[in-house]
Amino acid sequence: MSPLQNILDTQTRPGKLFKSLDDDNLLCTACGHLCKLRPGQRGVCKVRFNSDGTLLVPWHYVAGLQNDPIEKKPFFHALPGSRALSFGMLGCDFRCAYCQNWFTSQSLKDDASTISSTSVSAKDICDRANDAKVVVSTYNEPLITSEWAVEVFKEAKQRKLWTAYVSNGHGTPEVLEYIGPWLDLMKIDLKSFSPKEYRRLGGNLDAVLETIQTVHGMGIWLELVTLLIPDYNDSDEELSKIAEFIARVSKDIPWHVTAFHPDYKMTDRKRTPVETLLRAYQHGKNAGLSFVYAGNLPGKVQNTENTYCPYCQQLLIERVGFRVVSNHLKEDHCPECRKSIPGRWVKSS
Ligand code: SF4
Repeated sequence: MSPLQNILDTQTRPGKLFKSLDDDNLLCTACGHLCKLRPGQRGVCKVRFNSDGTLLVPWHYVAGLQNDPIEKKPFFHALPGSRALSFGMLGCDFRCAYCQNWFTSQSLKDDASTISSTSVSAKDICDRANDAKVVVSTYNEPLITSEWAVEVFKEAKQRKLWTAYVSNGHGTPEVLEYIGPWLDLMKIDLKSFSPKEYRRLGGNLDAVLETIQTVHGMGIWLELVTLLIPDYNDSDEELSKIAEFIARVSKDIPWHVTAFHPDYKMTDRKRTPVETLLRAYQHGKNAGLSFVYAGNLPGKVQNTENTYCPYCQQLLIERVGFRVVSNHLKEDHCPECRKSIPGRWVKSS
């Protein structure tokens, strides 16, 4: 066992997201893998394990903590221009070859990662909020560390902060029911529309699609991201399938189509060109989506970083990258036609 694993195993406590099976076996329900764990066995994520019939889960630590623009998460329809206190732990239930957070997500599976953890309380984390309005579980996959995230969110709620997950969406009904009462916003990656590719990433497309539908139905504000990788998920057929699926759930869900850069184990292809982002944008519009955004190439993607009123086309929010240049919304409505714009634009308290 690695020294990091030894340390993390001490930063645990009994979890809540499981079902008891015969002979001290457990079924973990924190993510779509639904691992059946014999005593002594670890899950696919490596951070949850069966210790003599008790499921131990991550607790009271962080591996990353910083204040970011909320647009970086990315949330474009939630408190524009505000700061988001981002905290992350270690581990993931996926193994994406192109992961841009692999240092944290793959730390227990890849010796090249030298990151470590720091013991903290929920109060310690929230004390760092300063002017942030939202506390976000991100950097690693938050679903697998949900008990600890909810503990942090309880503290955040006492301080009237909003809460968010930045997730791969590989959820279960149990984990969504557990986090739902504490969660205001969720960003989910819809990485592909191919069941085979999802299996290669280490997950299940159906579990992600069901999570997207459930989260939207629960009234949690949801934004979706597809990282467009040349010759991987950027065909017209795949982009139109993704866009049409989102439109069937709701045309009001923002879809961010973002540019890839070679990273981690996927270094055999080029950066995503502007034309691909604009093509994906058009697929979103053809499917009837009201809000499609091209990301990661600030200032180079025509006007696709801005928000326009879907009813009268008035410019509502002008952006360059993560920076809000101007915001013309009147609370939650268009200043021109006065229709309400989907989002969580203002906090009441
Ligand atoms: S979080 Fe997912 S991968 Fe980890 S033990 Fe639970 S079901 Fe398995």
